[in-house]
Amino acid sequence: MGKGISIQCKKCGYSTTLFEGLGNRTKDFEGFRKRLNKNDNEYIDYILSKGIIKEINYHDSYGKCDRCGDLSTINYIEIHYDEYKTFNLENKCHVCEGNYIPVNLEEVLNSNCPKCNNERIDSFMSMNWD
Ligand SMILES: [Zn+2]
Ligand SMILES: [Zn+2]
Repeated sequence: MGKGISIQCKKCGYSTTLFEGLGNRTKDFEGFRKRLNKNDNEYIDYILSKGIIKEINYHDSYGKCDRCGDLSTINYIEIHYDEYKTFNLENKCHVCEGNYIPVNLEEVLNSNCPKCNNERIDSFMSMNWD
């Protein structure tokens, strides 16, 4: 079961819906990977074939750009392999050259509006999805 939230800036009208968690269609890793781009999938294939895989964590996550503050749903993937190696999938910002970093719900709600930098974002709907 996943969760989602719709947020809105009352000042400029910016709104978006973000999702986190895992649903039925994405709960196995192969299904989850279908939405990744080719390069990312090839790199993951490479790790899976060469490395000794210890643990794979993956889910939808709320993401916030480390440069411009844009908010988006991101594909969170973390693979622990070999002795102490960890692969984290990079999620490039849709707006600038930055990277989305995973954030929790509280951090989303405490964010400034990505568009007008208003300090207050309101959530007007939360949901569960499968
Ligand atoms: Zn950005
Ligand atoms: Zn705004």
